[in-house]
Amino acid sequence: TFRAVLIDSGASGRTVEVAEVSPEQLPEGDVTVRVACSTLNYKDALAITGTGPVVRSFPMVPGIDFAGTVVESTNPGFAPGDRVVPNGWGVGERHWGGLAEYARVKGEWLIPLEEAFTFEQAMIIGTAGYTAMLCVMALERHGVSADSGEVLVTGAAGGVGSVATALLAKLGYQVAAVTGRSTESDYLTSLGATRILPRSDFTEPGKPLVKEQWAGAVDVAGGQVLANVCAGMKYRSVVAACGLAAGMGFPATVAPFILRAVTLAGIDSVLCPVDDRREAWRRLATDLDHSLLDSMTQKVTLNDCIPVADRMLDGAVRGRVIVPIPDN
Ligand code: NAP
Repeated sequence: TFRAVLIDSGASGRTVEVAEVSPEQLPEGDVTVRVACSTLNYKDALAITGTGPVVRSFPMVPGIDFAGTVVESTNPGFAPGDRVVPNGWGVGERHWGGLAEYARVKGEWLIPLEEAFTFEQAMIIGTAGYTAMLCVMALERHGVSADSGEVLVTGAAGGVGSVATALLAKLGYQVAAVTGRSTESDYLTSLGATRILPRSDFTEPGKPLVKEQWAGAVDVAGGQVLANVCAGMKYRSVVAACGLAAGMGFPATVAPFILRAVTLAGIDSVLCPVDDRREAWRRLATDLDHSLLDSMTQKVTLNDCIPVADRMLDGAVRGRVIVPIPDN
């Protein structure tokens, strides 16, 4: 048997525990991986706590990503010993995920892990960091460059926000970091933010348009925060929207789009095409200051994932949470 976080739903209600699972219970797939390191993403916290409709079938092993070594493969693209990482594709939602000692997935969901990364570094980045990279790539694709002006990052002390802040700063952008935690100001400055703004500047209903300030924005919040971000964007600027930490709603007007030609670029990591994934991981190998990764990270055990999920949804976790899964 091997250990896995297991979410189940029975007549007596929902249960979440670290369980002993038999290898025969692993789902269908052509590649079996010994997970070396997993992580806790916001979506995993939604799954573990049952807060959002993330889990589509029961029993489910959560964990939308993992890094590990192939132990068995009938897929011609992968052989035992290969270092791999998947992000999304329904792993941890519809298909058993990475918060376990072993995972079995479709080879087409895996990409070879860049040599630059250890398993732990790959998971410090994780789906959150890969999504941050997709956001930065979207800003670039729509013409935002380091000399366009300041770029705003919301939820900056969280996982996506921390990596986005560090990436943008290394690429030469001036980064204004929005956080609900003034205690994280020094941390955000250490990642390269040049200005720290309180989240409360963005949480109240505001005007359709306010002073033009931002050449680009990476938003993890959605809701009223995203609406207020849009209202302060410069002419022909770009917002990469990837999250809903402040809510699913979008109580905005079209004014920023039709009067300031603002582009709202939606970001999805789950079904993102493989070429973009590989490009994002290649860029993370070169454009992220890897010496910052440890400062963004806390390590927890499989057992800890359950209480830490609550703290994550409360917005109380700094940066990234990784779950190293050592050999017994
Ligand atoms: P996280 O580590 O929990 O970070 C979220 C951060 O948002 C918190 O640390 C907090 O930062 C801020 N925040 C929390 N509650 C808020 C609120 N009510 N209003 C405004 N800001 C709030 O989570 P994550 O892994 O970075 O993920 C962030 C978001 O991106 C989540 O909604 C997640 O589902 C989404 N996401 C989407 C994709 C995709 O494919 N589109 C991929 C990955 C993640 P401060 O304390 O600094 O304010």
